[in-house]
Amino acid sequence: MKILAVGAHPDDLEITCAGTLAKFVKEGHEVTMCHALNGDKGHFHISPSELGPTRIEEARLAAESINAKALYAGYRDCEILYTPETLARFVDIIRSEKPDLIITHSPDDYMPDHIITGQLVTDASFHATVPYFKTKVEEAHDVLPPIYYMDNFAGSNFLPTEYVDITDTLELKKEAMRKHESQIIWLMEHDNVDILDLIETVAKFRGLQCGVKYAEGFKKYEGWGRTVTRRLLP
Ligand SMILES: [Zn+2]
Repeated sequence: MKILAVGAHPDDLEITCAGTLAKFVKEGHEVTMCHALNGDKGHFHISPSELGPTRIEEARLAAESINAKALYAGYRDCEILYTPETLARFVDIIRSEKPDLIITHSPDDYMPDHIITGQLVTDASFHATVPYFKTKVEEAHDVLPPIYYMDNFAGSNFLPTEYVDITDTLELKKEAMRKHESQIIWLMEHDNVDILDLIETVAKFRGLQCGVKYAEGFKKYEGWGRTVTRRLLP
């Protein structure tokens, strides 16, 4: 399968679903880790013009560490809106990547960038299949891909409907997070959060809910046409 995971900021996928993405890769699937924004405002001291390129590179290294492909959609923190242009951009990404499965943010997330990104990706995955919806990439996607919403930050306001055992890939997930050096500092200073500890704590909590040591939780998007009879998550 081809899996397209789309997070808003360069570290969102690492925090919430990288254990599952690493597991997909280990099982021979192709994974693209797309971040919509460049994370340029995620620091107290480093200016956006300096931080943006740094974080795109951190995302590239993180994706590389689990043998996934990194992709930047081209927007800046707090500046993504739902417009015809942003919708067309995600249609083009989906038409280029041709995913069999999409993972993105839940509508119940806490952060506007996350919510808008998740909504754009969900809607674009439908429009990408409509040939007369014209965008830069001409060829329409031939699959209405199933969508899974990844967990919210710290598991807040999110009750998973499916779980993935990441006991074997938790270390890979943490390794991917360590590539986001700028954010380990920012999350401590801005949110008083030790992100590597949070990742392990949430994984342990999700694991308790499904009877394994460490897990990640997901919620399936239940829109018509997105359901298949076999399990898609690893
Ligand atoms: Zn984020």
